[in-house]
Amino acid sequence: MSAPTRVRMVRSSSPEETHAWGVRLGRLLQPGDFVGLVGDLGAGKTHLVRGVAEGAEVARAEVASPTFAIVYPYRGRIPLYHADLYRLADYDELYATGFLDLVGGDGALLVEWLDKIPEAAPRAFLRLTLREVGEDARELVAEAWGERPTELLDAWLPENR
Ligand code: ADP
Ligand code: MG
Repeated sequence: MSAPTRVRMVRSSSPEETHAWGVRLGRLLQPGDFVGLVGDLGAGKTHLVRGVAEGAEVARAEVASPTFAIVYPYRGRIPLYHADLYRLADYDELYATGFLDLVGGDGALLVEWLDKIPEAAPRAFLRLTLREVGEDARELVAEAWGERPTELLDAWLPENR
């Protein structure tokens, strides 16, 4: 895979801080945006997604942890699709779910466990890697490939801190 166009790193010291980042990102998302989330169990992927959903004006009650379905559609300011690739074996299985029809469509996609099937990502996308670095501390590495994801990342996390 080619080097990302832009990389930013931030640290969170609480679940609330991670949530707040999500809210900021959710306010910026546009139809067609693809955000992959990578990180071990408990890294904070779902936490971040809940913040994104709030920022995209999705009713709180709608937001689930996509454990049994591959994709949960949420209705917010724009359609938001929350997917989890954890249980899928490979690209063919993903293809069969119809998920790929959503890519570049009417909404923004948030895809947990993208590293399980990296080919699921379009050419331009944002990848967020979360890592537990202490009980309440998380490190977030955000990498953008392509023009729009780079603009999105610059607007979301203006500088390394
Ligand atoms: P994942 O979806 O990556 O498995 P979750 O978001 O479901 O992770 O869970 C993250 C867990 O880590 C939650 O129990 C949360 O309270 C805890 N946590 C502690 N510190 C943080 C932090 N800074 N950011 C996010 N979650 C945190
Ligand atoms: Mg999760």
